[in-house]
Amino acid sequence: MAVPTITLKPTGQQVPQVGFGLWKVPNDSTADVVYTAIQNGYRHFDGACDYGNEKEAGEGIRRAIKDGLVKREDIFVTSKLWATFHAPEHVEVAAKRQLADWGLEYFDLYLIHFPLPLQYVDPAERYPPGWSIAADKWETKTANVPLATTWKAVESLVDAGLVKNIGVCNFQGGLLLDLIRSARIPPAVLQIEHHPYLVQPQLLDLAKDLGIAVTAYSSFGPLSYRDIQSPKALGTSLLFDNDVITSTAKKHAKTPAQVLLKWAVQRGVIVIPKTADKQRQLENKDLFSFELSSEEQSAIDALDKGLRFNDPGDYLNPPQRI
Ligand code: NAD
Repeated sequence: MAVPTITLKPTGQQVPQVGFGLWKVPNDSTADVVYTAIQNGYRHFDGACDYGNEKEAGEGIRRAIKDGLVKREDIFVTSKLWATFHAPEHVEVAAKRQLADWGLEYFDLYLIHFPLPLQYVDPAERYPPGWSIAADKWETKTANVPLATTWKAVESLVDAGLVKNIGVCNFQGGLLLDLIRSARIPPAVLQIEHHPYLVQPQLLDLAKDLGIAVTAYSSFGPLSYRDIQSPKALGTSLLFDNDVITSTAKKHAKTPAQVLLKWAVQRGVIVIPKTADKQRQLENKDLFSFELSSEEQSAIDALDKGLRFNDPGDYLNPPQRI
């Protein structure tokens, strides 16, 4: 069954509601994983400078185009501006480097990765730069760049034809409203951590009112953060083992992963699950042959704990909550 699309308000461009996330896909398998995902029907890829695999992801896409599987315009490619490149003089340089890595002429969507500028690290020194200013020890340093200044530079990428849509990640409501006050081009997408332990109904309502599409990341909650040994995630029970999720899955003869993704999709959200496994790739986009009832949706909403696993407050020094 075809994956439905969501319309991005500023440009009218369509984005497939199920995409493919590229965080933590190892460099040596990224090109093949992307190629297989395209064979499996994925037409939307979510990358970032910080994932360190943009060259390989681009290789997978270019191979699929060369083999006649897809055309460039069939694929929706997202990338993100890393936090060390928020100063206006670094934004276009960063985006151009990323486009060259992918081997693409434009991104369909370019997002500010975190509302948290970090001190510049010269790409010649280290790329991707990551969170720490020092290569040999953990030391983070924020930079004094207002978000409105960065947004203005990101808007210029649209003018230059380098990106079609722009947006933000990890913004809360107040920051979103502030951004819109001075924006010439409104954000098309808000990408946020979103799962039944972090339900955020007000933020979703606000985005809807503002005409901003929402993309959910880490739809399976703690699982992705167990992969990186996060103590918070290791100490939280898996959503895959939760009774509400497992009993709903059983009732629909679907997997817990499909129930978690379907719950998000029925909230009007775009999902971008990541898996190298061929079968799971198919499973994660097979979400449109069943419906969760409003009672089932509400029972999943009620699992909310306000629990965020991707919180820079946990890994910046000094801690800064966003
Ligand atoms: P995810 O929710 O996609 O979970 C990934 C984990 O789930 C992996 O361990 C994978 O093996 C497992 N998995 C996937 N499908 C499965 C299935 N059907 N059954 C069982 N296990 C399955 O987590 P994620 O990678 O954190 O998030 C998805 C994407 O969101 C990322 O790849 C990235 O593109 C994006 N992201 C963005 C930000 C941001 O700050 N903007 C942060 C994190 C992730």
